[in-house]
Amino acid sequence: MFDINTFSNKLKQYSEGIPEKFLSDISVERLYKICLELEEKSKLFNLTAITDPDEVIKKHIVDCLFLASEIENWDKGNGKILDVGSGAGFPSLPVAAVLDDYSMTALDSTAKKINYIKNTSDIIGVTDFDAVASRAEDAAKTNMREAYDIVTARAVARLSVLAELCIPFLKVGGYFISMKGAAAEEEVKEAESAVKKLGCKFCKIVPYTISNLPDKRFLVIYKKISSTAAIYPRNYSQISKKPL
Ligand code: SAM
Repeated sequence: MFDINTFSNKLKQYSEGIPEKFLSDISVERLYKICLELEEKSKLFNLTAITDPDEVIKKHIVDCLFLASEIENWDKGNGKILDVGSGAGFPSLPVAAVLDDYSMTALDSTAKKINYIKNTSDIIGVTDFDAVASRAEDAAKTNMREAYDIVTARAVARLSVLAELCIPFLKVGGYFISMKGAAAEEEVKEAESAVKKLGCKFCKIVPYTISNLPDKRFLVIYKKISSTAAIYPRNYSQISKKPL
């Protein structure tokens, strides 16, 4: 990774469209530490396929800052965010790094990744941060059910499957925001009946692009309008073989 001054300059250069307040000295320092940890621990176990420092800044950090800025546009409620399938901490860590007045829970089925995320949250100095090692289908049957104001996910599953993994965690009135690539609109159509059965209504798709990258990116946003029936989520093989 670059030294912190070069990192800061590049981050600012790649952050067109990102609110300036997310690029304060403290936020930049936290985001830098996330990148350093990622680089360091990736030598020990498989955390990310993206290793080029410029790409890490654009595809991991700036991508997640777009999500953070969108989160602020919706009712905050009690400010409890859950990130499903957080992997190496994306989007949970960068979002927590810049949104101080929200609490963040990262969920992943891999305990190693969850330990990594928790340790990194301590290193960057965010306090209202929890990390849970569990499959989403199991965690959604605990007291985490219908307990969050915002549920996020990136690169976990197609929307028709992801909806059943994520929506049970949302309080009625909360928002499900997934980060999607070029197939977003097609996935939204495919997931229409699933999101309805799970108690959500479609709000909007927010398109964005990250500095100089050709890929189109989208935030897909749903609002929960009624409680999810207790039969959901089903077990993973049913969810993936027969999306709702
Ligand atoms: N969100 C991260 C990102 O964008 O860099 C990680 C994406 S990675 C491709 C998908 C992650 O989702 C993996 O870490 C995997 O362990 C986790 N995952 C997949 N299915 C899951 C489930 N049913 N419950 C919890 N975690 C799951």
